[in-house]
Amino acid sequence: MMGHYRVTGLREACGVFGVFAPGRDVARLTFFGLYALQHRGQESAGIATCDGHTAYLHKGMGLVAQVFNEENLRPLRGHMAIGHNRYSTTGASHIRNAQPYLIETLHGPLGVAHNGNLTNALHLRRLVLERGVGLSSTSDSEVITQMLAAPPEAWLNGHAPPVNGDGVDDEWVARIRAFMRLAKGAYSLVILTRRGLYAVRDPLGLRPLCLGTLDEGVVVASESCALLTVGATYLREVTPGEIVRVDDRGITSFAGLHSPTRALCIFEYVYFARPDSLFEGQVIHEVRQRMGRRLAHEAPADADIVVGVPDSATPHAIGYSLESGIPFTEGLTKNRYIGRTFIQPDDKLRQEGVRLKYNPLPANLEGRRVVLVDDSIVRGNTAGPLVQLLRDGGAREVHVRVASPPVCHPCFMGVDMATYRELVAARMDVEAIRRHIGADSLAYLSLPGLVAVVEEALEKPTGHCTACFSGEYPIEIPEWLFAENREKLAFEGIWGS
Ligand code: SF4
Repeated sequence: MMGHYRVTGLREACGVFGVFAPGRDVARLTFFGLYALQHRGQESAGIATCDGHTAYLHKGMGLVAQVFNEENLRPLRGHMAIGHNRYSTTGASHIRNAQPYLIETLHGPLGVAHNGNLTNALHLRRLVLERGVGLSSTSDSEVITQMLAAPPEAWLNGHAPPVNGDGVDDEWVARIRAFMRLAKGAYSLVILTRRGLYAVRDPLGLRPLCLGTLDEGVVVASESCALLTVGATYLREVTPGEIVRVDDRGITSFAGLHSPTRALCIFEYVYFARPDSLFEGQVIHEVRQRMGRRLAHEAPADADIVVGVPDSATPHAIGYSLESGIPFTEGLTKNRYIGRTFIQPDDKLRQEGVRLKYNPLPANLEGRRVVLVDDSIVRGNTAGPLVQLLRDGGAREVHVRVASPPVCHPCFMGVDMATYRELVAARMDVEAIRRHIGADSLAYLSLPGLVAVVEEALEKPTGHCTACFSGEYPIEIPEWLFAENREKLAFEGIWGS
């Protein structure tokens, strides 16, 4: 029954990778590409390859290095591959939701790796089931795979766009276009077929996707850091709404679905992306430094040292230090082998995780007034223990500065961020949060400040999604999705009347 699928099980923010490179060990390249994208998803990993006739697949739960070894990489033959890292989600931690999905179709193998979340996934799921196709998981990515497996007429009631509308006869392009007409939400896709790969980005460009070149081929990845890891040269981003085909004819671009506006997730700039990745022509590390500078301008503090929450807030803290003139120093040491607290599966683990993850550096903290810079506060479970750790290390005062605005709204576009109930800024004002985390003062970067910093170096700013800060969603969100969150809050006595 449709109503039994919980949407919380469908949310994910993942890393995708693809390579078309005759003569190269594409499974090995994909392994290292996924390894570079490990920060985007740590729940499961998978690789599918194809040799032009047969496709091969291996996937499993855990980190890339836990899922793959020489033995299971060796059978993944062929000259093209796609790979996927899946983000930890609530209630859907199961191998059946691991990607890529790989099925056999009339036109040969079809593999799909998806980063994003479809807001009309339940509607599309019903369409697929009504046509007699069984589904084995709760993932919208499997729905996408099954939609692509059928001809466009199956979904568009005979109103399919022409296969060769732009002079190129490509059945897969027609199928992808049909899917794009019906899909709502965020999707960056890498698709594996018998002849080549396709890279697809939703019309708003909510999630990133870029292209690179090897001497012998082409690479597609969520972030440019993965291109450099496998020795590829950055070429360009996949344009929002574009379909890119990569095969032995080279790279071919097709119009998929146009939107006059763009909405790349601004949280990619704040936290998700690796600092060495490039979005919209900007190095993430530099944009984060500008966030820190702007934060120092908007929210100065009378203090002796600036400390960043390692490693994600280090660039923001450096920016704060450069702008304020207060020296930057290390105040917390991080155990680099424990996953990011933001993506631990439940609150209890997150709270315990802080002490497992960080130790204070008393030599730098003793008697000092500290500005603690963090990139974001989402649930508010990490900031409090960190403030206490700094005090335990000898800090006299701790002033928390956050390089993004308060996160007050959930994400329905591919990030399993939190529900309203879990978001600390959805239930407390800034002063209450300050008391909650035990800081001497607390201030956030403003939303206009964040947007200005991200867009100031862009030639033609076309817009970013800021919904988790502003509540202004770039796509229509079904009311029942909000209701699900609010019901929980009303039940808890936190939200509403
Ligand atoms: S709601 Fe937030 S996390 Fe989700 S896409 Fe928009 S900016 Fe990104």
